[in-house]
Amino acid sequence: MLTNGNYQSLFVTTGEGVVLIDAPEPLVKFIEAAVADVTDEQISTLIYSHGHSDHIGGSHLLARPGLEIIAEERVAKFLNQKHDGRRLIPTRTFNEELVFKKGEKTISLKRDEFHSPEGDLVIHFPKEKVMMVVDFIAPGWVPLLDFDITGNMFVYLGAFDRILSYDFDAFISGHTADIAHRKDVELTKKYAFDVYETVKRIHSQINVAELLAKERDNEQAGIKLLIEEVTAAATADVKSRWLTGPMKGVDLWTESHCRAMLLYVRWSD
Ligand SMILES: [Zn+2]
Repeated sequence: MLTNGNYQSLFVTTGEGVVLIDAPEPLVKFIEAAVADVTDEQISTLIYSHGHSDHIGGSHLLARPGLEIIAEERVAKFLNQKHDGRRLIPTRTFNEELVFKKGEKTISLKRDEFHSPEGDLVIHFPKEKVMMVVDFIAPGWVPLLDFDITGNMFVYLGAFDRILSYDFDAFISGHTADIAHRKDVELTKKYAFDVYETVKRIHSQINVAELLAKERDNEQAGIKLLIEEVTAAATADVKSRWLTGPMKGVDLWTESHCRAMLLYVRWSD
């Protein structure tokens, strides 16, 4: 695993070329030297964890004839439409799932949708018991704004059990300087479901009619008030348990987590 303290990428030797997962631009200048430190093999395959520019925007610096670039087909479609020059267009796509074998390595790629609208890969090295799942958790931290800007809270909450069902020890999260482990995924799951249960309880207890009556002539102002009041009460409740807890970022992001969760609980749950 390669990190600059903020971003992470991963590479493996296969005996038939190096497979690299993700190419964040701030890291790319170190990647070839790091590969040369451990092998004479060249980078032959690049896999995109998802389509976001901060994780694959350095790929143009690795461009060379014959470089295979693998992405799930909806990510490839998005990149073809964006055509921004920094994110190289995939040369090989697949639908939903691919068991990629190269040399002595087997890598399982499976589409999920916990973070980006085009989809995110759950990447598993079954023999090595290593996973790479980018922008889902960060060890030592609660998720970023709005549960890492997830566009689908239902899929996000379900992703914890889907990911924990894999056999793995090391977990590459895409962020921080550290390798994460099962306990980090379990802890973030505990936090996310605490936010869910808290928001659900407070939302069910609130007297909506009384709240809306405060803004009698303006229903939309009443809805805004409801969102603000439930978010504030849930944030105080969750903070009372987690502010001095094992994860940083509660002071920064918990309010956004409660608000994002409320939008899900009120309109989709
Ligand atoms: Zn992302």
